[in-house]
Amino acid sequence: MAAIDIHQRDELAFPRSLPEFQKLFPDDAACATYLGRARWPHGFVCPHCGVIGEPFRITTRPGVLECRACRRQTGLLAGTVMERSHTPLSVWFWAAYLVASQTPGMSAVQFQRQLGLTRYETAFAILHKLRAGMVRPDQDRIGGQAKEHVEVDETWVGGRTRGEGRGIHHKTLVSAAVEVRHRKPGTAQDKRRDGRFAGRVRLAIVADRSADSLCGFVENAVMPGSLIITDDWSGYASLRKRGYDHHPIAESGDPEIAEQFMPIIHLVFSNLKTWLNGIHHGVSAKHLQAYLNEFTFRFNRRFYPFNAFRSLLGIAGGAEAPTYAQLYSGAWVHPTCSGCLT
Ligand SMILES: [Zn+2]
Repeated sequence: MAAIDIHQRDELAFPRSLPEFQKLFPDDAACATYLGRARWPHGFVCPHCGVIGEPFRITTRPGVLECRACRRQTGLLAGTVMERSHTPLSVWFWAAYLVASQTPGMSAVQFQRQLGLTRYETAFAILHKLRAGMVRPDQDRIGGQAKEHVEVDETWVGGRTRGEGRGIHHKTLVSAAVEVRHRKPGTAQDKRRDGRFAGRVRLAIVADRSADSLCGFVENAVMPGSLIITDDWSGYASLRKRGYDHHPIAESGDPEIAEQFMPIIHLVFSNLKTWLNGIHHGVSAKHLQAYLNEFTFRFNRRFYPFNAFRSLLGIAGGAEAPTYAQLYSGAWVHPTCSGCLT
């Protein structure tokens, strides 16, 4: 089934406040109607016989549509992250609204409380399923704009030691690329950053600081030909050969030089670490990529908080989501925003 993309669909109202949410989505049936309209903008199309027309609806099973022509049934949730879920649609919608509208996001514990769920595991699984819907399968590469450049760097994330003695760390290496934009002259400027601000970001776990890992990330995340600024680490040395307008900065560990030439990426790393530690109290390496995806989703939509709700539901269409068992066994591989898996 084709992915739903309702990002641009103005006829689908979206809630700007809690009262609006309650009015738009009072029950499971209202959620089902909204989802149906999002999936079939010109009326329900039966995937079995191709006939277009209003389907039969079963009051007790809002997730099932029955074709009036051939009488065969179609799952409203097939191909979305909600497929095979026993959680009511209204809970999913409330979850998507909370994830989309709460600026810093929520921990699974806060989420469980907000949704009134009896089991922590249900909250944990819903959040991870929504995270699986935050990555577009056909996500494009950032950069490629003539007047912008891209800052690229890597950082160690996590690594709390629990009674394992000094010097033992479980840190994970994370690569990031961020577009740097400039405010129009004459508008309010942040003097410290010289009018520069962040555009879109891409984040992914990388195996190590080798050229293959770091440049491999860049090739998956950034458009060829883009002007890229990095530090002078040898792992980035082949970027020019790989088709980028690469400008390494010799920072020699001087934080002031780093702040001057790569201020935006350091801001991204600092926000990321504050978010991981403050909201989630640190996350395991196994699930880190899912949190990177959520951070990316929030960051790239931070100027459009209300559209994120529709985006979230929209991108969720056609996505594959993990089951609770897959999450715990480690059989599920979180999708990366750059397509490169380590
Ligand atoms: Zn049919």
